[in-house]
Amino acid sequence: MPSNHPSVNLAGLLRQTFGFDSFRPLQEEIIRDALAGRDVFALLPTGGGKSLCYQLPALAREDGLTVVISPLIALMKDQVDALTTAGVPATFLNSSIDLSEVRDRIHDLAAGRYRLLYVAPERLMQPGFFDALAGWRPNLIAVDEAHCISEWGHDFRPEYRRLKELRDRFPDLPVMALTATATERVRADIVRQLHLRDPRCYVASFNRPNLSYRVLPKQKPYAQVLAFLRDRPRDAGIIYCQSRKATEDVARRLMLDGIPARPYHAGLEPAARAANQEAFLRDEARVICATIAFGMGINKSNVRFVLHYDLPKNVEGYYQETGRAGRDGLPADCVLLFSPGDVIKHLKFIEEKPDPQEQQVAREQLQQIVQYAEDSACRRARLLQYFGESSAADNCGGCDNCLAPRETYDGTVPAQKLLSCVYRIRQAPSGFGVGLNHIVEVLTGADTEKVRRWGHDQLSTYGIGTELTRPEWQAAGRELVRLGLLEQTADMYNTLGLTDAGLDTLRERRAVTLTRPLLADVIAATPGESRRPRAGEIACDEVLFERLRVLRRSLADDRDVPAYVIFSDAALREMARSYPVSEDDFGCIPGVGRRKLTEFAEPFTAEVRSFLEDHPRQDFPAPDRTVSPPPRVAAAKPGINDTTEETLRLFRDGMDVPAIARFRGLATSTIYQHFNKAVADGVPLELERLVPPDLAARIAAAFAEIPREAGMKAIKERLGDAVDYGQLYLWRATCAADAT
Ligand code: ADP
Ligand code: MG
Ligand code: ZN
Repeated sequence: MPSNHPSVNLAGLLRQTFGFDSFRPLQEEIIRDALAGRDVFALLPTGGGKSLCYQLPALAREDGLTVVISPLIALMKDQVDALTTAGVPATFLNSSIDLSEVRDRIHDLAAGRYRLLYVAPERLMQPGFFDALAGWRPNLIAVDEAHCISEWGHDFRPEYRRLKELRDRFPDLPVMALTATATERVRADIVRQLHLRDPRCYVASFNRPNLSYRVLPKQKPYAQVLAFLRDRPRDAGIIYCQSRKATEDVARRLMLDGIPARPYHAGLEPAARAANQEAFLRDEARVICATIAFGMGINKSNVRFVLHYDLPKNVEGYYQETGRAGRDGLPADCVLLFSPGDVIKHLKFIEEKPDPQEQQVAREQLQQIVQYAEDSACRRARLLQYFGESSAADNCGGCDNCLAPRETYDGTVPAQKLLSCVYRIRQAPSGFGVGLNHIVEVLTGADTEKVRRWGHDQLSTYGIGTELTRPEWQAAGRELVRLGLLEQTADMYNTLGLTDAGLDTLRERRAVTLTRPLLADVIAATPGESRRPRAGEIACDEVLFERLRVLRRSLADDRDVPAYVIFSDAALREMARSYPVSEDDFGCIPGVGRRKLTEFAEPFTAEVRSFLEDHPRQDFPAPDRTVSPPPRVAAAKPGINDTTEETLRLFRDGMDVPAIARFRGLATSTIYQHFNKAVADGVPLELERLVPPDLAARIAAAFAEIPREAGMKAIKERLGDAVDYGQLYLWRATCAADAT
């Protein structure tokens, strides 16, 4: 079979069909193995490019059909739309299409018109389907989201269990299993359940360099969320909530605050749920407030943030949920709102579980996520460590703890007090262990019934801890657990005990460094973060980018597909960086394959040409397409800060100055200051919108008439309320040079 020959030009196919210059890690190896007829097990993180692993082999062969098993109907349609837009003949079969359409598709499948078929597992198992399939000359079975086969995973689908029948019926057909699941148990289950034969296993790094991680103390969560969303008025994202009710509450309040949001949870009517998901995929809803029922296989590539309103149950779930951000490789933010109160809620929940072993596992998992949340070390390193990966850099440059290391203090004295309090309580006549809460009550001298009943007000450590507040003591206690000086049993009471190291520390009065608890007031950005280059960033002409987005939107609407099916945000930013004006230029944009070149070169290059008629072309550095972690020490560039940026974003959105001032609750003079700052930094602005031509003419006249020594005040007095000082400065900064 010549098409299976290893020399087949995969890079050329990648370029021509998808417009990509290079493979993501492991893609090429996986594709070559598949073409060689081997079973493959591919474990790539979300956004790692799993689809391509089976799409490219389908094209590399001269004929035959690649069958893709996929659990979600919405996802199938999206993928097929995306393939069709890229010029690849593909179709899908599931319960969403009517009978006559099914018949047409089956007819075309038999005639060999498609290279890829997406099919739901239940369809596959319908009587007669295997026989039909045999006639379509299948050459590869790809099982996407393969973790659905495992009961141990969170997305278990009973229908996936029957996939092994496929293997039994077509023993010679190679099978490729793909997943982003991180648990060992699920991985083993997949290999076994699918009857994979001597599979080649590929495991990519789970690091997602373009995602940044942050934990914030949860205080007024709704207000925090609102501030976060207003800080990034263009970005779409997911807010995960613990309860169904919370998803609805948050979505409703956001709508009232003018932010298009929808709820999503398993208790919604199927039609409403589908409609809400669709609204999010189509960029009609900027925010989806969801339980963890939302997300598997969500293809939307421009999810710019994932915000956890409540504490997730475990680290694995947290990683999977955050993984839905930034599939396009552009920077995206993962924020967790953390409060000890949520931990207590979880513990109560766990107590209600009937099975003690299950309780035990759940408590251990909870402890891990709490440790993640309270840790002062690199969040990325912690996440990767959880999956058995060690991270290369000691400063990842993309988490709150690396960007703004937390303040530490000499905690020797408090640590001594806390450790000895634990020790005394253990020694006391009551003699049993207690949890951190109680220890803090003893330290701070609380007069509670429990303290009195157990005689803990008689201990020498009672009331000796006045130097810290209760929450600070709590945090110190949890940190001592993390440092390994105390240990917390995972039993019902979370009893604390001294470890050997803790005992030594107590006896030898060893020095202990503790971390100051997080401050609650920052949500907008970690200080120092906003202007440093971020992994995956593509600097581009933001004004042009917005225009291209509008164009993409209308092209997508014409075709009734989500915008990212036309081009990803990454491709648009590449265009807004290199200003393609000819078809040749356009063909060089990453993400533009042959079909998209033919179909979209005209509208996009026309837009760029018209843009360039009245905007200067700017130079932007070439982006780092390897998306490697940023250098350890990033140069902190002075310049535009966040608040200025928000003003600029709103301005580009079409708001005028009074509207921006109202929206942001700031004085108009402040808004003008932002524009002056932007001008000083060389940001191009549509000046006519800030100083209309007739006003500019009057300002020019006033400047010409009034002697320079009279100063700005005199000019302002001449022009009166028609003009703001900010406009005068803007005019002077931009027009005066030409005029004088
Ligand atoms: P996964 O299924 O692993 O989560 P996808 O297959 O959905 O990931 O791919 C994520 C994104 O990465 C898509 O937008 C896809 O077009 C893009 N992509 C895949 N492979 C490449 C590549 N080699 N170069 C550039 N982009 C790629
Ligand atoms: Mg996928
Ligand atoms: Zn870090």
